[in-house]
Parts: sequence; C-alpha cells; structure tokens
Amino acid sequence: MMFNIKSLATQLHKSNKKALLINSFRYGALFLLCGALTYSTHAIFELYTSAQSSHQQVSKLQKQALELSASLSEETALNRTLNATIEQKKQALTILNQRIDDMESVLGLGEKNKDLDLQKRVNTAAINSAVKATLFQLIPNGEPTPNVQLTSGFGTRVHPITKQRKRHDGLDFAAKSGTPIYAPADAVIEKAKSSKHGYGNQLILNHAMGFVSTYSHMSKFNVKAGQFVNKGELIGWTGNSGLSTGPHLHYEIHFLGKPLNPRPFVNWDIKNFDTIFKKEPNVQWASLLDTVGSMVEMQIQLASKNHEATFQTVNQPKSNPKQTNTP
Ligand SMILES: [Zn+2]
Repeated sequence: MMFNIKSLATQLHKSNKKALLINSFRYGALFLLCGALTYSTHAIFELYTSAQSSHQQVSKLQKQALELSASLSEETALNRTLNATIEQKKQALTILNQRIDDMESVLGLGEKNKDLDLQKRVNTAAINSAVKATLFQLIPNGEPTPNVQLTSGFGTRVHPITKQRKRHDGLDFAAKSGTPIYAPADAVIEKAKSSKHGYGNQLILNHAMGFVSTYSHMSKFNVKAGQFVNKGELIGWTGNSGLSTGPHLHYEIHFLGKPLNPRPFVNWDIKNFDTIFKKEPNVQWASLLDTVGSMVEMQIQLASKNHEATFQTVNQPKSNPKQTNTP
C-alpha cells in the first residue's frame, strides 16, 4: 500500500510537471501571439498615419500645382499683352520713322540725316522746320490775293496810262474790286493812306528783318496805322482807286528801302524753299538764316527744358498727404 501511495504520488508529480510544461508553453504562445498582434496593430496604425500624411501632401501638391498653373496662365496672358504692346510700339516706331523720312524729304535734309539716331534726326528736323516756319511767318511769302491772275510783272515797261517807259516796282494782280487781301507775313501797319491820286488807297506793312510790303489802288482797309497783324490776317480789299486802268492790286516788296521783284516771294513755299536764295541776291540770306537759326534753336532748347521739367514733375513720387498735412 505504501508502494502504491508512493507510486501514485510520483505519478501525480509527473502529471503536474507535464501539465505545467504544457501550460507554460500555452502561455508563452499566447504571449507571443499578443505581442505579434500588438506589433501588427501598431504597424497598421503607422501605415495608416503615413498614408494619411501622404494623402495630405498629395492634396497640398495638387493645390500648389493648380496655383502654379493659374499663375502660369496669368503670366502667359501678360506675356501675350506685352508682346502685343511691343508689336504696336514697333509699328508706331515704323510709322514715326516714315514720317521723319517724309519730313526730312520735305525739309530737304535728304540722306545726310539718315545716319543720326532718331532723337538727333527729330531735333535737326525740328530746328530746320522751325527755322522755315519762322521765316514763312516773318518774311512775305505767297499770294496776297490767292488765285488771282498776275497781269504785270516787275521791271521797266511802258506805263498803260502815261505811255512813258518807266520802272514798274511791283506786281499787278487782276482782282475784281472787293477781293480780300491777306498779310503775307507778320507786320505792323506803317501807313494806311487814303488818296485819289497815284497809288490811290495804300497800305504799307513793315515786316521784320528790313522787309516792307505795299498794297495800292485798294477799295477799303481792314486795319489802322500802328496795328500789328499776323500772317494770313485780312488787311483790306482790292479796288480801282488812284491812277489805275481797272480794278487790280499793285503789290510791292522793299528790302532796306529798295524795291525787290515780289515774284520769287509770291512763289516761295516749303517745296521750293531754297530757290529764293538764288533768285533774290539783294538779301544776305545766309546771314539771315544764321540769325533766325540761333533764335529758333534757343526757343527749342527752352521748350525742351520746359518739357523735361514738366515730365519730371509729373513723374515725381507723390508725397504722403498725412505727413504734409501734419501741423
Ligand atoms: Zn502796278
């Protein structure tokens, strides 16, 4: 019996040991499983977080791409507008060049100006055209009675009434009475003389630079002695007063008291600007052109300085009104 108890105890002991081993193994496996599960859960969570972050980054990048695309569209549109503006400026410059070419050709500057830059070409053309415009304003030019036939020239002739061979100091224009007469240049009215003899009703205009013009056989005056007139102003009307065979205008031009042939002055215009210099040798044209040239150059320089000053004033940054208004 003793043996049996001992044997039973041994058996129990063995059986407990086995159960303990199995349990230990089970718990070990369970622990490992739990560990694996925890690790997997953590890994899945990590992956999820990472995916979410990536998604956010993708969204951000997509937004940036959209913004860049919009910005690129704006830049492209701006670029297109700028290109169109450049093209317009180029066309304007071409037209400007063409106009300067035309102007130079009218002014007789020809090819000699072509090598200069645009600014110098414009300045030269401006001075040249201003000199010409000034001369045409100051020195008698053009017909005093436009579109009226010239019937008698300057020089010695047999007088139609006295039949004597005499110098004819002017031109006769066959204008019917009442034809308007216009000042051929700026002037002061030296005389407005009414008479029934000789030159009849006569106006004497005193121009700049030693030139004088006279208008005889007039019917009526539109100006008084001492009055200043501009080129083109109506000074009176033609008639048949004084020693005259019929209505006409007797027109004279004097330089320093000496009568000149008015014909080159009547024919003088921008297209044949130089011809008068050869046709009228009694005037020192070179000296006159120098004087008018320096006068005009000074005016252009002044105008250009005024223009620069205006430009600078316009482009100056505006002062802060808050600062200027502070007492
Ligand atoms: Zn005459």
